[in-house]
Amino acid sequence: MERLRSAQLYEQALDVIVGGVNSPSRSFQAVGGGPPVFMVRAQGAYFWDADGNRYIDYLAAFGPIICGHAHPHIVQAICEAAQNGTLYGTPTEWEITFARMLREAIPSMEKIRFVNSGTEAVMTCIRVARAYTGRTKIVKFAGCYHGHSDLVLVAAGSGPATLGIPDSAGIPQSIANDVITVPYNDPYAYAEAMARWGDEVAAVLVEPIVGNFGIVPPEPGFLETVHRVAKNCGALVIYDEVITAFRFHYGGAQDLLGFAPDMTALGKIIGGGLPIGAYGGRREIMEQVAPLGPAYQAGTMAGNPASIRAGIACLEVLREPGVYEHLDRLGRMLQEGIEAAASRHGIPVQVNRVKGALAVYFTDRPVRQYADVQASDGKRFARFFRLMLDQGVYLAPSKYEAWFITLAHTEDDIAYTVEAVDRAFAQL
Ligand code: PMP
Repeated sequence: MERLRSAQLYEQALDVIVGGVNSPSRSFQAVGGGPPVFMVRAQGAYFWDADGNRYIDYLAAFGPIICGHAHPHIVQAICEAAQNGTLYGTPTEWEITFARMLREAIPSMEKIRFVNSGTEAVMTCIRVARAYTGRTKIVKFAGCYHGHSDLVLVAAGSGPATLGIPDSAGIPQSIANDVITVPYNDPYAYAEAMARWGDEVAAVLVEPIVGNFGIVPPEPGFLETVHRVAKNCGALVIYDEVITAFRFHYGGAQDLLGFAPDMTALGKIIGGGLPIGAYGGRREIMEQVAPLGPAYQAGTMAGNPASIRAGIACLEVLREPGVYEHLDRLGRMLQEGIEAAASRHGIPVQVNRVKGALAVYFTDRPVRQYADVQASDGKRFARFFRLMLDQGVYLAPSKYEAWFITLAHTEDDIAYTVEAVDRAFAQL
C-alpha cells in the first residue's frame, strides 16, 4: 500500500507543526516512527488517506466516534447549529436539555458544567475537590491518563505507593509532591497509601474501567475498597469517565458497576465528535463553583451550541434499542477471531474486552495493571500494527491504546479484520 502523499505531507507538517502532529499520540513514534497517515475523509466505519487508501477504523478518534463517522443525525444537528450561529456567549436552552440528558443517564451528576475537553473536566474536578475539602493531595493510579494538566502528568516513583515524579518537563517537583500514584487493581497498595497520607488527600481519581492502557476492568472488590477507604479518610472519589461514559451502555461505567462517585469527568463521546468536556457531582460539592462558590472555572467556548447539539444528537442515537448489543456482538466476534488466529499461529496474545472496546496485548500473562502492559512485546505490536495498516485496518499506533468498534462497523468488517489478523500473525 503506497502512502507517498502522507510522507510528503509529513515533511511539510514537520516544518510548521511541532513534531508534525497536534497531539503526540497521533505520531507513529510508539510503532517505530516514520510518517503518520494523513486522512482526508471519513464515513461510517472507514476513512480514506491522502493517497486514496481506505481503512477500517478502530481508532474512532481515540474514542469519541461511537456512532461512526459523519452519522447523518449528528451532521444535521451540527449544520443546524452552524446556520444559527456557533457561539453566543450567553446561555441557551440546548445546554439545559443536554445537562438533563446527562443527569438522567448518570444520576450522581446532580449538577453539571460543560467545558471544552476531558483535560479541563478532570483539572476542574480536582480544583473543586480541593476547594470543598480544604486539602491538597490527590491519589491516582499508574497508567491511568487524565489529560495534560500539571497535577495528573505525574507518574509513580519506585515502590508500591510513592509520591510522584513529574512525567513531563515544566512540572515542578512541588506540584508532583501533591500526587500519590499507586498501581491499579491493587487495593493493598492503595490502602497503604491512604493510611499514610489519607488525611491530606482531597480526592482519589480513577478510571472505573481503564481505557488508557488498553482495556482493563476493575477486579472484584477493587472499586469497593477505593470508595470505602476514601470515605473513611474524608477524601472525595472522582471518576474519570472521559472514555467510559456511554461507551459500554447508555450511562456511565459507574451505573454499570453500581457505584456513585462524588464527582465525574466526561468528554469524548458526549461531544458527538466535536470538542467538549463536562464535569459534575454532588450538589453541595458543585456549589463550590463560581458564580455560586469560591472555586473559579470559566470558558469562552464552554457549552457552545455546535458541541452541545452534536452531543444531544449523539446521545439520541445511543439510546435507540439494540445499540450496545450490536457493539457487544461485534466485539465478541472480533475477540474470538483474534484468539483463534493467535492459537492457530502459536502467538501469545491476551485480549481484554468490555463490550465494543478491546485491547490486544502480546504477552502470555493476564493484563490487570499498567506494568503488565509495559512488559508486553512492543516490537511485536509495532510489526503487527504495520501489517494491519497495509491491509487497510487502522489500529491506534501504540500497544497502550484500545480498539473501538462503532455502530457503523458490520459483521463483514469484523470478518475482514479477523482474516487480516490471521495473515498478520502468520508473518509475525
Ligand atoms: N481522561 C481520560 C480517561 C482520557 O482518556 C483522556 C483523553 N484520552 C482525557 C482525560 C483527556 O481528554 P482530552 O484529550 O479531551 O483533553
